Amino acid sequence: MERKYVAEPFRIKAVEPLKMLSHAERVKKIKEANYNLFHLRGEDCYIDLLTDSGTNAMSQTQWAGVMQGDEAYAGSSSYYKLIEAGKDIFDYGYIQPVHQGRAAEKVLLPLFLSEGMFAISNMFFDTTRAHVILAGARPIDCVIEEAKNPHIRAKFKGNMDVEKLEKTILEKGSDNVGLVVMTITNNSAGGQPVSMKNLQEVSDICKKYKIPLCIDAARFAENAHFIKRDEEGYQDKAVKEIVREMFQYGDMFTMSAKKDAIVNMGGLLGIKEKESPLVLKVKANCMSYEGFFTYGGLAGRDLEAMAIGLYEGIDENYLKYRIGQMEYLASRLDEAGIAYQSPVGGHGVFIDAAEMYPQIPYYEYPGQTLCIELYKEAGIRTCDIGSYMLGNDPDTNKQLKADFEFSRLAIPRRVYTQSHLDTIADALISVKKRAHTIQQGYKITWEPPILRHFQAHLAPLS
Ligand SMILES: *Cc1c(COP(=O)(O)O)cnc(C)c1O
Repeated sequence: MERKYVAEPFRIKAVEPLKMLSHAERVKKIKEANYNLFHLRGEDCYIDLLTDSGTNAMSQTQWAGVMQGDEAYAGSSSYYKLIEAGKDIFDYGYIQPVHQGRAAEKVLLPLFLSEGMFAISNMFFDTTRAHVILAGARPIDCVIEEAKNPHIRAKFKGNMDVEKLEKTILEKGSDNVGLVVMTITNNSAGGQPVSMKNLQEVSDICKKYKIPLCIDAARFAENAHFIKRDEEGYQDKAVKEIVREMFQYGDMFTMSAKKDAIVNMGGLLGIKEKESPLVLKVKANCMSYEGFFTYGGLAGRDLEAMAIGLYEGIDENYLKYRIGQMEYLASRLDEAGIAYQSPVGGHGVFIDAAEMYPQIPYYEYPGQTLCIELYKEAGIRTCDIGSYMLGNDPDTNKQLKADFEFSRLAIPRRVYTQSHLDTIADALISVKKRAHTIQQGYKITWEPPILRHFQAHLAPLS
């Protein structure tokens, strides 16, 4: 049954007109982009679901904050406002602004990882995986098995498999595991949440083996909403309380503020204790890579907008509307019999492209194939979360086989309406109808050594 759409807890004050290309123009554009959707111009996309990162609509309060941003090089009032918000929401002693999530990874990960070491996560996000490898270490994913089957509607499918975690630690030797990373929500598994219980169990294992636990916190607010909705004992707790409890299980966090802090640029790094040798090292790395520690690569106005956005992101009416958009779109796909990572997660709908195109093997990139078809169909830009994104084994250089072949429809925050969501569902239904006519996928004709999906060139095999 079609689910009721949760109405917006806001109204629209400024509008951004969209260009509408013809089908023939879109076919030409995607070819010119070497079948890499990252190479399309934004203006050539009617509905841009490439990512929910930095594509959010800021509120009037945030825009007013932009005007009030304090651009002092050191110690700006916007910095102090952000630090207060960070300490209040996460209850951590040290908060460091950085220019985006991967900057926090670059500053923090080499302090724990080096040649020959391992980092274990429920699932690494692509940039986090890249920074583990750049530090000389190797990333290992230990997500629960249910996550790998898009049809199993289990709660908290983003969880770490704690038995597998402990087994992996013993196998590699606890001294060789530099860091455990809990990605909340689990982006690569489909924005699937992690339960409080799982966070606690992972934290217990980390303590047992004296391994630090880092939270990759890009979608902390959406995760907290799921805990409130689905985990026993949390229905009467405020999201803010739940957030504080979640973060008590970590020792540190890296965060892309371009997601749940509803800004267009920014990131945070947090450390539980206020002062420590680690804090000094973080400040030192930050000053080399990002800028003086009171601005961390951001303008004062960015710090100000983030301080405000952190609170807007945990507003419970907003979160109900936000997750409601995913639930509405997913209900339309259920009606049409289109498979996706279910139950639907926090920041998008991850279509099961392997099921849509059973005839296309992983090394011909079914996820990417579906993304290209959706663009041709309706000017909708999405991205592959599958073997194309995963890339090659860093040691053997062979194409890795991903656990999933998804095309991700990431939904920007406060940007698209119910009619846009209907347009997306209708396009998917058309693409599915002619899915059997596509015999082959794509091959890569050029690729860089790391994070290839952003830049690679592709060509159709038929
Ligand atoms: C977006 C994201 C990152 C990287 O953040 P950027 O701001 O894009 O650099 C890291 N981890 C997760 C889970 C993310 O979603």
